[in-house]
Amino acid sequence: MFKIIYYRNKCIGCSICFELQPELWRMSKKDGKATLLKSTAKKDVCVLSVSNTIQLRTRDVVMACPVKIIKVL
Ligand code: SF4
Repeated sequence: MFKIIYYRNKCIGCSICFELQPELWRMSKKDGKATLLKSTAKKDVCVLSVSNTIQLRTRDVVMACPVKIIKVL
C-alpha cells in the first residue's frame, strides 16, 4: 500500500487533479479547493491509503499540481 498526502489549505483550486484522476478528487463547491475522496484529515492534511495501481496514476497528479501540495509515499 502507498499513502497519498495532500496539504489542502494550500490548494489554489485549479482542478487539474480532478481532471486527471476523477475517481480520487472532487472540487468543493463550498471553498473551491480539491477534496481527496475517502481520506482522513487532520488540520487540513489529508491522508489516503491506496493500491499500487492507483498510486501510479496519482504520480501524474503530483507532477501536474502547480503548487506541489500532493505527495505519494
Ligand atoms: S492540482 Fe493541486 S492546486 Fe490544483 S486543485 Fe488539485 S490540489 Fe489544488
